[in-house]
Amino acid sequence: MTAQAVSETPTLEDELRDWLGRELPDGWMEAVDAGDDGKFAEVRKELDYDSWCERLADAGWATPTWPAEYGAGRSLSPSEARPINEILAHYKVPRSYNIIGIGMGGPTVIEHGSEEMKKRLLAPIARGTEIWCQLFSEPSAGSDVAGLATRAVRDGDEWIVNGQKVWTTLAHIARWGMIIVRTNPDVPKHQGLSYFVVDMHAPGVTVKPLVQMTGDAEFNEVFFDEVRIPDSMRLGPEGEGWRVAITTLMNERVALSGAGSVGGDAVGGSPVSRLLDRHRPITDPVLRQRAAQAWMENRVIGLTNGRASAARKSGEAGPEGSVTKLFQAEFNQRLQELAIDLEGSDALAWAASGDRTALPGWVHTAEIDHGTVVAGFLRSRANTIEGGTSEIMRNILGERVLGLPKEPQVDREIPWKDVLRSG
Ligand SMILES: Cc1cc2nc3c(=O)[nH]c(=O)nc-3n(C[C@H](O)[C@H](O)[C@H](O)COP(=O)(O)OP(=O)(O)OC[C@H]3O[C@@H](n4cnc5c(N)ncnc54)[C@H](O)[C@@H]3O)c2cc1C
Repeated sequence: MTAQAVSETPTLEDELRDWLGRELPDGWMEAVDAGDDGKFAEVRKELDYDSWCERLADAGWATPTWPAEYGAGRSLSPSEARPINEILAHYKVPRSYNIIGIGMGGPTVIEHGSEEMKKRLLAPIARGTEIWCQLFSEPSAGSDVAGLATRAVRDGDEWIVNGQKVWTTLAHIARWGMIIVRTNPDVPKHQGLSYFVVDMHAPGVTVKPLVQMTGDAEFNEVFFDEVRIPDSMRLGPEGEGWRVAITTLMNERVALSGAGSVGGDAVGGSPVSRLLDRHRPITDPVLRQRAAQAWMENRVIGLTNGRASAARKSGEAGPEGSVTKLFQAEFNQRLQELAIDLEGSDALAWAASGDRTALPGWVHTAEIDHGTVVAGFLRSRANTIEGGTSEIMRNILGERVLGLPKEPQVDREIPWKDVLRSG
């Protein structure tokens, strides 16, 4: 083969660009490349979001690292997937809001699920036709999720579940949930847990939305009253639910840190540069300094994410997921505060938006306006809580990265049923 023939072999990136050129509405890519926001907003209206998410998944681009044999994915390594995700981000390609399914549910099923589960569950996650939620936190078990109290008792080939979960994002529209339950209260807390995929439409599941200060209701209380889960929907061995949960939590930190295929720097759904463009030139020296700092920190996050993906490629689960989760959360709060300060008094009033209960706030990718800036600011307060608080992230970094002594855990070795608890 000649050198010329080698250089003409289409790369995956070429294949994706060609596919986007065929599948996106005419003028989409040109408008993005030209930085023509007006034209892009016009073209954007021609795209049907739901059918687009399905087409993106069917072509394998929505979840490029997932095994291709289950109908979604291209079996790419993280480093091969990185330029794919960069192209999708560059062309502002809409992605499914099924971020819990794509970011955590799918990867957990791929690592711990049976063949039947992979065949049944993976493609609808990637296509966004079956939304997933994560049922870990309980009223008395958030940071200490291994202390949870929701019980499951075996009855033949099924488990009967009773208890309550809380802060369950997307539960109100979810078809499936990842749930950890206590199947053995007679052993220490980490050892008596099992992990299931639960049908959110099963009899006995009650979902009650919680309205937050943005006006959205993106998360819920979920009650389980004699809910039956087939044993075939268990992920991992009985009693080893904690080990499976670690897979989910590691993927959650990657997804929330922006190191995964979803997430990233955003102000009301728009990149940092867009915020700076909106206010260029920034004449106030202090605001200008903060803007420069934001730009630099954003670069640092990008580089750290690059290191994280290199570490994963070489098979090492480094601390970068926790580093970037911690840093990204605090960075985003600083950025949203900067956005509010740049808006000045305009940020005190904004037009009411339409129905915001159906989708989470971060899905909205409209142009920056006062409403999205304020919603972004209010929503960002949750960043240092969701997916593990910043205090817990610092504990993890202190203990696992810096080698500091572990914090005392008086309840770690005693049977869960003997641990003193309130309520
Ligand atoms: C927007 C949002 C979405 C969420 N979505 C989901 C979801 O989909 N599914 C789900 O299961 N959960 C979800 N959560 C719940 C989230 O995981 C918990 O809120 C979080 O883990 C903290 O738990 P907690 O709220 O019970 O607080 P607590 O654990 O009661 O913590 C209270 C305070 O004590 C501090 N603290 C606790 N333990 C320690 C310690 N050992 N050392 C130092 N400080 C400590 C914490 O940092 C915090 O400041 C969501 C939360 C938010 C805000």
